[in-house]
Amino acid sequence: MKHLYYYDSQRCEFVIVEYSTTDKVIHTLTTWVMVGIVMAGILVTSLAYLTGSPAEIALRAENNELIRQHQHHKSNIAQLQQQLNRIAERDNTVYRTVLGMDPITEEERMAGVGGADIFSRFDGYSTTATALLRETSSELENMKHRLSIQQASFDEIKAFYNDNVDKVRHLPILRPVDGIILSGYGMRNHPVLGVRRMHEGLDFRASVGTPVYAPGDGVIKYAANRAGGYGLTIDIDHSHGYVTRYAHLSGFADGIRPGRRIQRGDLIGYTGRSGVVSGPHLHYEIIRNGRPVDPLNYLFADLTPQEYKMFTRIQLAQNER
Ligand SMILES: [Zn+2]
Repeated sequence: MKHLYYYDSQRCEFVIVEYSTTDKVIHTLTTWVMVGIVMAGILVTSLAYLTGSPAEIALRAENNELIRQHQHHKSNIAQLQQQLNRIAERDNTVYRTVLGMDPITEEERMAGVGGADIFSRFDGYSTTATALLRETSSELENMKHRLSIQQASFDEIKAFYNDNVDKVRHLPILRPVDGIILSGYGMRNHPVLGVRRMHEGLDFRASVGTPVYAPGDGVIKYAANRAGGYGLTIDIDHSHGYVTRYAHLSGFADGIRPGRRIQRGDLIGYTGRSGVVSGPHLHYEIIRNGRPVDPLNYLFADLTPQEYKMFTRIQLAQNER
């Protein structure tokens, strides 16, 4: 052990400094406490440097949660956009086409979207957050725009309807028979002939004798046995370029003969199995300006959205085969 000395001027010599035991203990303890404080300081500082302060850790967790929530919103927005696209498509290919209105082009639906970068306020955040905020904000803006176009289109359809009540009354937009759809419009393997050919109408399952109703106002154009496998058939001329056809009937309603005027909902005949069939059903065709069209697109007045979706899917599958 080293000794401390002091100079005793009276004795003219160096004398060893004697410490009491208490002094020694206090000295040792003080030294260790100082060392401990310094060590703890170094430890806390380096921990904070490596992992962040408690406040920073909490903020980081919150930030991650916000980003996750935002990603969730983003996928919701994507789903809404798909639904909106389907509505727009139906608006064009069904409502507007059937009523004889011009469809709204994709350019028109998208007009005014984009332009100046109104999202530059999101610059400066971390890249992930900025990209997310920008994307979702611009997608929301986009949807807002498309929705207002869609709303305008429906308003236009409503106005058209009001201005064209007579035409709309003639359009064949009701289900002519109470029965589920057996077979859709499009290419298919013929159930009796077994060959692949175009099916130019919709087949409704209906037992023999089920009433058939006119889907729109018109004049009976044909009511007789028709060649080509149709069997007992009625044609109705709805004017405005539309003719509807009902085949494989078992009989006509009273007074149904060419020239007879009928109104939407009038009974015209009864389903059956006349002509070339594998079972009783109603074969229903809509002919527009001399060409058959898909009757499914005209049943929007009483087709449930589920039915519509189901049959467009079935038809797509049939057409691809
Ligand atoms: Zn058919």
